[in-house]
Amino acid sequence: MKKTLQTLCLCLFMLALLTAGCGGGKDGKDKKELVVGTEPAFAPFEFQKENSKEYVGFDMDLIAAIAKRMGYEKCTIRGMGFDALIPALEAKNIDVAIAGMTITEERAKKVIFSKPYYKSGLAIVVHKDNNTVKEAADLKGKKIAVQIGTTGAMEAEKIEGAKITSFNTNGEACLEIKNKAVDAVIGDLPVEAYFLEQGGKEYAKIVGKTLTSEDYGIAVAKSNPALAKEVDKALDELKKNGEYDKLYRKWFGEMPKQ
Ligand code: GLN
Repeated sequence: MKKTLQTLCLCLFMLALLTAGCGGGKDGKDKKELVVGTEPAFAPFEFQKENSKEYVGFDMDLIAAIAKRMGYEKCTIRGMGFDALIPALEAKNIDVAIAGMTITEERAKKVIFSKPYYKSGLAIVVHKDNNTVKEAADLKGKKIAVQIGTTGAMEAEKIEGAKITSFNTNGEACLEIKNKAVDAVIGDLPVEAYFLEQGGKEYAKIVGKTLTSEDYGIAVAKSNPALAKEVDKALDELKKNGEYDKLYRKWFGEMPKQ
């Protein structure tokens, strides 16, 4: 009797192992590799440490945890320009995109967003000697540098008479402040705050109120709603089991006030 029970248990265990490996994967394939697109010059969300090719940051840790939770063996990161991410999803070159990407109505027409995973907003950065730009209203007719295809760029376009120059990365836009080539940069607050902390404060500062309230989401191709559901499920589980909080504290210190 004992032996039969043992055999039954073993059989069930093997069956569980077998079924865990299939079904639900992208396009019904095995869950071997999740290919993730990002724009890797967006610290502390995704960046390469000096002299290292490895991608690190909050988003990188989060997507690795999500991929693991979903049962993928491998999570491969592909770096590209921010404006190339949605086309890469549409072309099925990547499975998901995580890049501090704000959930916007416009983008939601092209991709499926996960539930929000980070609350953000836009900040104004100016040279530390600048005493004329103190808030958004002072930006009229000013020279503004932005990162191409971002919500910061969209916000700058709303400003009357603004002369906008676009750059591939936030870092390049901020360099324009150092060179006094522009009056301001509009970019994501956590990224600008990190940039100041990492040495930018020697020549730059954040002024005025946060311009917007934005939510970051993980993007999945419209053609893959099953994967989008799985991402949400994994994200929910990581929020429940404390792993999300652990990663948040690792990169941002305090948990946000709800
Ligand atoms: N959150 C901003 C956006 O979605 C910037 C993202 C980024 O530059 N990686 O437009």
